[in-house]
Amino acid sequence: MESEVRVCGVVVKEGLSGYRFYADVLGQLQEGIKEYVTAALNRVLDEEVERLLGRRPYVRRDERNQQRVTARCLGCGSRRQQDFLRDGHKPRGLVTLWASLTVLMPRLRCCRCGGTVSVAYETIKPRQRVWDDIGEETRVAWGLGQGLHEIKGRLDLHLHTSFGLRMLNERVREMSKLVAGWQEGDLTSPPVLLLDAFWIRVMKPNGRVRRDKEGRKRQRKGLFWLPVMVALGLWPEEREKHILDWEIGNGPGEDARSRLKLLTRLEARGIRGDQGLRLIIHDGSAVLEEALEEVHFAALRQRCLFHKLRNVLEAIRFPDELQQEEK
Ligand SMILES: [Zn+2]
Repeated sequence: MESEVRVCGVVVKEGLSGYRFYADVLGQLQEGIKEYVTAALNRVLDEEVERLLGRRPYVRRDERNQQRVTARCLGCGSRRQQDFLRDGHKPRGLVTLWASLTVLMPRLRCCRCGGTVSVAYETIKPRQRVWDDIGEETRVAWGLGQGLHEIKGRLDLHLHTSFGLRMLNERVREMSKLVAGWQEGDLTSPPVLLLDAFWIRVMKPNGRVRRDKEGRKRQRKGLFWLPVMVALGLWPEEREKHILDWEIGNGPGEDARSRLKLLTRLEARGIRGDQGLRLIIHDGSAVLEEALEEVHFAALRQRCLFHKLRNVLEAIRFPDELQQEEK
């Protein structure tokens, strides 16, 4: 099977200048990427079929092979690998962050009864119309505190399509379960733990009720400030940094409690001196000092002088630039 997917080159057209030239090149690149992603997805789907059938296209079936597979004939219920044949492709619309694509879903037929074979592909799930990268984008945007309308607006603009708010809502709810999972389980202790706090503004019901035009009761919403505590793990030698955990307080005055909660959880998850933690850097706030008195990490504490923090972060950012140059 062809292992390389090629994209057509950009054609520089005559008579275009300035912004029109730029827009034309971008348009060509967008088309090229669309072709590339489509071709790559089609190839991966065909590879899944090859693994499922255990044979390349135009290779004869092995009648003696009795192996069963996960795919199933909807006619006779057979699961026998050698009962299935390739039966062309069926176009399916798939919205990705790159573009709205049409991918070719491979079809299989049963040679016993002629029935359609149901296959659950790993690359594109049954009935999936929106690819996983959109979910990832939604999760990140949601994590940054953007509202569904805002996310929808950006995706619509980006993809020239319209996203259902209900679909986005389902995605976010699915993902909040994942996020909960991220805050459980053991962590590898970094040499340096950086504790940082900032405030975000969110819209939420303020407890008051109003009547809308039809006289129905509606929750009034207001802007609230919430404290966010973030624990960042730094590996200075490897020049890496990762978010280890975080905690969002319920409102003003909540920062002491959420800090203590975050620190207790970090310690319980294995961020400790005996696990390799050497240094804790923090913003030096009294609230955090107090919390650090209660949770024992068995590591040196250091107030974060701004330049010190910046030096560490710069040292860690460095590899990105290096890689870009190497590319
Ligand atoms: Zn069948």
